[in-house]
Amino acid sequence: MPDAVGRSFPKDENCIFCKIVAGTIPCFKLYEDDQVLCFLDVFPIVAGHTLIIPKSHYSNIMETPPEVLAAINLRVPKLVAAAVKGVSAVACHVLTNSGREAGQSVDHLHYHILPRFEGDGYKLNWNPSKLDPTLAARLQLSIGQTLTHDR
Ligand code: AMP
Repeated sequence: MPDAVGRSFPKDENCIFCKIVAGTIPCFKLYEDDQVLCFLDVFPIVAGHTLIIPKSHYSNIMETPPEVLAAINLRVPKLVAAAVKGVSAVACHVLTNSGREAGQSVDHLHYHILPRFEGDGYKLNWNPSKLDPTLAARLQLSIGQTLTHDR
């Protein structure tokens, strides 16, 4: 069975999530199909903390082919709704950490689903500042140039 880009599921034998996909390490499975696995995070930061992973090994979102991301995203609404409803939450975060500096500890792409409850006390460190227009113009240029060059 090929993955979403027609490859036979790239794997990394040292990857803990590849071992979960292979069934050599157990997980609290919530959902599985030919492309995707969804299971409970064993070190939850909120109740119902859930992970969605592709069965293929790609280290993070920047390394993952769009077709693989599309396959995951097709399943995201249903899986997120179930995780939120299943713990009677009222809201959620869906996020992916990419790289050590962003807090990534397992180098196999995964989305975290973090259900949120009123008054749950969890604080995502989000400290907005005002965007400086000069900096914004520079960013438009550098990010825009990268997009054009890497097209
Ligand atoms: P990140 O830090 O974004 O790479 O997230 C990796 C997540 O995987 C963490 O939240 C861990 O708690 C979780 N995790 C690590 N090992 C396992 C495992 N064997 N089963 C389920 N979740 C795991």
